[in-house]
Amino acid sequence: MLTYDYDLFVIGAGSAGIRAARLAGDLGRRVAIAEENRLGGTCVIRGCVPKKIFTYASSYSEVFEDARGFGWSVENPSFSWDQLMSSQKNEISRLETFYSEGLKKSKVSIYKDRAVFIDEHTLELVFTGERVTAEKILIATGACPKRYDFPGKDLCISSDDIFHLQSLPQSMLIVGSGYIAVEFANIFHGFGVNTTLVSRGDFILRRFDEDLRSQLQDAMRMKGIGIISNSLIHSVEKKNKQLLVFLSHGKEFLVDKVLLALGRVPKTEALALDKAKVSTDIAGRVLVDSYMRTHVRHIWAIGDVTNRMQLTPVAIHEAMCFVKTVFEGIPTSPDYNVIPTAVFSQPEVASVGLSEEKAVQKFHHVEIYRAHFLPMRHVVSGRKERCFMKLVVHGDSRILLGAHILGQNASELIQILAIALKGSLTKDVLDATMALHPTAAEELVTMYNASYRYSYGKKTE
Ligand code: NDP
Repeated sequence: MLTYDYDLFVIGAGSAGIRAARLAGDLGRRVAIAEENRLGGTCVIRGCVPKKIFTYASSYSEVFEDARGFGWSVENPSFSWDQLMSSQKNEISRLETFYSEGLKKSKVSIYKDRAVFIDEHTLELVFTGERVTAEKILIATGACPKRYDFPGKDLCISSDDIFHLQSLPQSMLIVGSGYIAVEFANIFHGFGVNTTLVSRGDFILRRFDEDLRSQLQDAMRMKGIGIISNSLIHSVEKKNKQLLVFLSHGKEFLVDKVLLALGRVPKTEALALDKAKVSTDIAGRVLVDSYMRTHVRHIWAIGDVTNRMQLTPVAIHEAMCFVKTVFEGIPTSPDYNVIPTAVFSQPEVASVGLSEEKAVQKFHHVEIYRAHFLPMRHVVSGRKERCFMKLVVHGDSRILLGAHILGQNASELIQILAIALKGSLTKDVLDATMALHPTAAEELVTMYNASYRYSYGKKTE
């Protein structure tokens, strides 16, 4: 009988890889994990965590302005980029240590190295040349920013570089209108950077409910973020210490930095997957079945490398399903039904379930409940930033199909509403729920009358 160095070798120590390695280690399996960068992956090192710290930091500029309406005088507040960078670095180092200790506690061997396939059961650790064998292998290498080929592309930065900027630029052009572009447009505007976003469509955030898309776009423009719609980047060239950007339709911009946020692609190039006969599609995504198994029976892939839903909680859920299936003998495929999501713009937008447009395509009878109001905080602060809430309800069963919010703490509200959707609660349960006053959230349980309805795709008042 063949013996292997490990029962499981995990390639990539991001959210998915670490969770899978720890759970398998806790079950007494001999587990190793390889990571060529820092432990924690995109979410912790160059994604969700530092981004949220930046979001909090940039939001203070509005808090100082709003405080005046409540009687505070905040004279000339100043901001230190160096202080923020140092606080952010400390937090990330703390988390990295936490992950490292967790892996050790679960008796997982850590290789700070890049693993590449030599054959179906053998991996080489590139920096040391060591070879290891494993009975089962899990690919969890995540994704990286998509690069586009145009003149001057190397002068642009990606979201990976943002957290290493030596100083705050005075002006920035952001290309793309998805999660990363919108979040960073708001972050840099909050820091006082002259920020412009270039979108190839009419509206930002293509995958969201249309009301949220148009209302956030309006709110961003109102606060001074430039949004150029229906435009593409053509080329970039250096001009003294700045960058001259040429867009389609002959528009030109002179800015300090250009950020490309055009999506992320699976990180599979350096793995030598062909040596293990693992198949990918044209975009480099590792092909897996509903249990995350590749075409090779003892090799699995989870998280962004499979390019399904590029969200941390989804990757962690896949890791838990993988361990249940492979090491606990309980075949468990991930449940992708009802995934709440938020864009940490200012104001935030967050959604769960079907958009109005998708619900109308899917069901004969749909009811829409909407509330659009100036929150009490801004009645006093004077900020003209309205809050928007929408519930999408099945017209026959009254089951909640979707919820969409724009406003402060939208993400927190949607996380809770996701429970209602997961439990297939009806709108009647929301109506029967006592309001908590005075909150913005009470609107969610007091929208008693439908704003409008749809019958077989036709809108009726
Ligand atoms: P997204 O997929 O969100 O957005 C990509 C953007 O790039 C879209 O606006 C898209 O336009 C545009 N685009 C793509 N190709 C081109 C092109 N050739 N020319 C011009 N524009 C183009 O990707 P992001 O990079 O923003 O984020 C990557 C992923 O990371 C997200 O999908 C998300 O899953 C995750 N993420 C999640 C966050 C969160 O949960 N808060 C935060 C950040 C990232 P169009 O819409 O027209 O296709």
